[in-house]
Amino acid sequence: MTVRQWLRAAIARLAGSESPKRDAEILLGFVTGKSRSWIIAFDDSELSAEQLSQLDDLLARRANGEPVAYLTGQREFWSLSLSVSPDTLIPRPDTELLVEQALAHLPETASTVLDLGTGTGAIALAIASERPDCQVTGVDRIAAAVSLAESNAQRLGITNARFRLSNWFSAVSGEQFTLIVSNPPYIDAEDQHLQQGDVRFEPDSALIAADNGLADIKQIAAEAGHYLLPGGWLLLEHGWQQAEAVRAILQQNHFVSVATAKDYGGNDRVTYAQKR
Ligand code: GLN
Repeated sequence: MTVRQWLRAAIARLAGSESPKRDAEILLGFVTGKSRSWIIAFDDSELSAEQLSQLDDLLARRANGEPVAYLTGQREFWSLSLSVSPDTLIPRPDTELLVEQALAHLPETASTVLDLGTGTGAIALAIASERPDCQVTGVDRIAAAVSLAESNAQRLGITNARFRLSNWFSAVSGEQFTLIVSNPPYIDAEDQHLQQGDVRFEPDSALIAADNGLADIKQIAAEAGHYLLPGGWLLLEHGWQQAEAVRAILQQNHFVSVATAKDYGGNDRVTYAQKR
């Protein structure tokens, strides 16, 4: 079977997915070790029996809904190629807004940053790579996430990010940071979004929060003040319908200059606030 024939059949089989062509090309690239441009240019190449059996297995799993990033163990975020695993959320393009806003709120002088619920380390590593003068700490309460983030840092050669096992602030008591950033769980357990598509394969611990999805945001907002230097910023990702509630929570916790930024889809996505 040629690359072209396999691609045609695979795209038909993935008709239920959001991006059948892209998914099929990524799986083909993963199994053959070739780039997308090679696949397009040499699509009359024959696939080996071994490649075909590996591709069949991956295609069946993808058709069943498993995210491509879990099948290949890899995902691009910011300008970084990250290892991902089913222990962690797959970094989303929307979350790049959180990185942009964090960079915009960091002073020009060397600073310290805390990333709560770091998962793959995506946010911490993106900030650390852009600001080599800053020290970034990423924490997660899942040990497998901490080791994944550490191995991502090592592979990318990013030396100004360190990772720790921590239930929110538990491992950083007594420390104060210039900026705290988090993409916490913020989806209500009853939300229909959780029943559809790739998200079904991602860990509940990274997605679901009690209290209409606001429980973790409330906890972070209540405690963050102790871990911020005066004038420091807290930035939180949240659901597109949660902005007003998140602003109110931050104001109740005595933060000032509270405002929300929209993602590329035009949805409220990141709210930031300053410690007085
Ligand atoms: N934005 C993600 C989603 O919609 C959720 C991320 C999160 O809960 N922190 O699937």
